[in-house]
Amino acid sequence: MVPMITLNDQSTLPQLGFGTALIPLDQTADVVGQALQAGYRHIDTGQLYGNEQGVGTAIAASGIPREELYVTSKLSTGDHRPDDVRRSFDKTLERLGLDRLDFFLIHWPLPTRYDGDYVSTWKAVTDLVADGRLRTAGVSNFEPAHLDRVIADTGLVPAVNQIEAHPYFANDTVREASRRHGIAVEAWGPLGQGAVLGNELLGKIAAAHGKTISQVTLRWHIQRGDVVFPKTTSRKRMEENLDLFGFSLSAEEVEAINSLDQGEAGRRGPHPDTFDYVP
Ligand code: NDP
Repeated sequence: MVPMITLNDQSTLPQLGFGTALIPLDQTADVVGQALQAGYRHIDTGQLYGNEQGVGTAIAASGIPREELYVTSKLSTGDHRPDDVRRSFDKTLERLGLDRLDFFLIHWPLPTRYDGDYVSTWKAVTDLVADGRLRTAGVSNFEPAHLDRVIADTGLVPAVNQIEAHPYFANDTVREASRRHGIAVEAWGPLGQGAVLGNELLGKIAAAHGKTISQVTLRWHIQRGDVVFPKTTSRKRMEENLDLFGFSLSAEEVEAINSLDQGEAGRRGPHPDTFDYVP
């Protein structure tokens, strides 16, 4: 049974979900359909992934009651102006075949674009909640200074901050800054996008539990209290990644995995202060 996390707006979210970045577009409906059959109820997508339509097809075909599903999408970096936020959000709902979205996040802060104004973007995303078309507003890849600024300028605290985190890049400074504001942390690239899967120490811990490295790594995230949504196109791995709740890591094992942190050198994605890609 996947635990539910309660967020600062009192909404809830399954702590384990399914990621969809880089699933080939022509396979998205099938892969997400398999994930729903396997038991995932929380799906993470984004406008930039180009696959919302496929996610929507899988949801419609699944027959799962809408209230059991938790769907996240993220604002394209090309649509930060407030009017574009509203327009592109409508298109997201249309592509997903939903009349209300559970989570919508600013994908990247882009402090070097749009005159450094991610505050009016944040305000526009929170207006969608006031409109009733969005349940929960959040952010992604926000550094502590970005969080401080949107909160100070609007008084509106994001419910989640989705950031890169895995054993090679623990990202604890941003995790702790998020937590101090009462913001739940979602760890993207929880397996280091595959980088940690050959690690010797993780292999030893996995063998001791009769589990795989992926399961031990995801369990470490769960015990740190973060939300995760590993991506895989394999049905077998979907089931493997869901099977995390029949064992636990000791405090010593958690400490040993913490020691794999390489700081900045372990980061796989771009730094949020300088990332400026706009499609
Ligand atoms: P992950 O850390 O989830 O790693 C995915 C890779 O691990 C794939 O190559 C997959 O291969 C492999 N894998 C998954 N499970 C297993 C397993 N049990 N055994 C062996 N290999 C496995 O990386 P992602 O970047 O996909 O991150 C997860 C999600 O986070 C994304 O899908 C997306 O939804 C989100 N994300 C958000 C970002 C943001 O900026 N907000 C940035 C990046 C990701 P295979 O498919 O072949 O099984």
